[in-house]
Amino acid sequence: MDQKILSIGNAEVPALGLGTYRLTGREGEKTIEQALALGYRHIDTAEMYGNEDVVGNAIINCGINRADIFITTKVWPSNFSKKKFIPSVESSLKRLRVDNVDLLLLHWPADDDTNRLATELLSECLHLQYAKHVGVSNFSLSQLQKAQAQAPIFCNQVEYSPYNNNNILLQYMRGQNMLLTAYSPLARGTVLHEAIIKKLAGKYQKTASQIVLRWLLQQDNVAAIPKAGSEKHSLENLQVFDFELSEEDMLAVFQLAKK
Ligand code: NAP
Repeated sequence: MDQKILSIGNAEVPALGLGTYRLTGREGEKTIEQALALGYRHIDTAEMYGNEDVVGNAIINCGINRADIFITTKVWPSNFSKKKFIPSVESSLKRLRVDNVDLLLLHWPADDDTNRLATELLSECLHLQYAKHVGVSNFSLSQLQKAQAQAPIFCNQVEYSPYNNNNILLQYMRGQNMLLTAYSPLARGTVLHEAIIKKLAGKYQKTASQIVLRWLLQQDNVAAIPKAGSEKHSLENLQVFDFELSEEDMLAVFQLAKK
């Protein structure tokens, strides 16, 4: 199936990725391998998830060229120090069994001084070629703007489902041609029960999950990384590139943020 690819700077990012939080052990490895076999080419992990080794195994086992998969990992704030940051990234790369990741993020903001240091260390990771691109996660607009003074910030990964209003942040990021990666895009499954989502699922002959993901992926500069724990859900979430929500229906879903 043809997927949407986002062109951000010199990077090509598959707009739909697989979130891997809680995908661990042999079961998690199998789920990630199946998703790659189905066509996923964007995988989101983090040092904190304790599954970089599982992601690394799945990538090796699936036999797909490493260069064809967009891999994101994240550094946890307890490693935001001169002594710990670079060794923690080196450990992540070792567990993932790759020479570099496509995107390296600061997982959560700390205080301003610590963020400044961590962002400088992100830049160092670019020079060391440990990451092709760097960014942040859970940063407010003002924290993001400060980070941009220290490093070429490519992405801010934030919670974004129909329940969140990220309008101001997203407008700014679009103006800078940055990637907004939507985490918990299905609001951990809760938004799938909303009446308007169910109504649109009936109208477009799609599932509730497909309506929500399509709503996100129809927005410029937005990628989404739903977590799916089964092959059935992985496949369903991938099948969102063969239909389009009307402008009116896009607006109807935006109304959920006002609830
Ligand atoms: P999510 O993707 O919004 O929701 C996951 C839930 O939705 C799971 O219970 C899953 O069930 C269910 N689901 C998935 N596909 C479905 C389908 N087609 N039909 C029905 N239910 C479906 O929430 P999330 O796991 O919190 O977020 C996704 C990813 O974002 C994480 O895995 C992680 O990579 C990232 N994340 C990042 C941060 C951060 O601070 N940067 C924070 C949170 C999450 P099954 O498991 O049964 O498929």
